[in-house]
Amino acid sequence: MTGLTHMAVASVIYRRGGLPAPVLLAAGFGSHFFLDRIPHYELGLGVNLALGLAGGLLLLRLAVRDRDLLLPVAAVIGLLPDILMQPGISSGFKAFHDFCHFKGSPVSPLMLVTEFAVTAACLLVLFQRKERRGG
Ligand SMILES: [Zn+2]
Repeated sequence: MTGLTHMAVASVIYRRGGLPAPVLLAAGFGSHFFLDRIPHYELGLGVNLALGLAGGLLLLRLAVRDRDLLLPVAAVIGLLPDILMQPGISSGFKAFHDFCHFKGSPVSPLMLVTEFAVTAACLLVLFQRKERRGG
């Protein structure tokens, strides 16, 4: 699963979840393991980093527009499990992440179409302006 997808889904959970922010940030962290469980095609690190950087800049722009500094925090929290599983940080966490991750026969690159459609839908939801009431 791309880092961008994790960031976008965690951001939507935070923005649209309708619960207190700490609960939604925790749910965004948990969404990472749920998403990794879905059979998916893995992109290389370079493409993944480029997508994550582009998505991160988009989300920063949105955070500035909406004066919502927790939005980029939510995005990073969605990506955090992949950061924490890097060598030397926590072998126990890496083992847990690997346990949760999809392990099956290779998945077609065409699955990226579905993943990108979900990611694009998340970004569209995020960029919708909130309805203004009473004004
Ligand atoms: Zn992961």
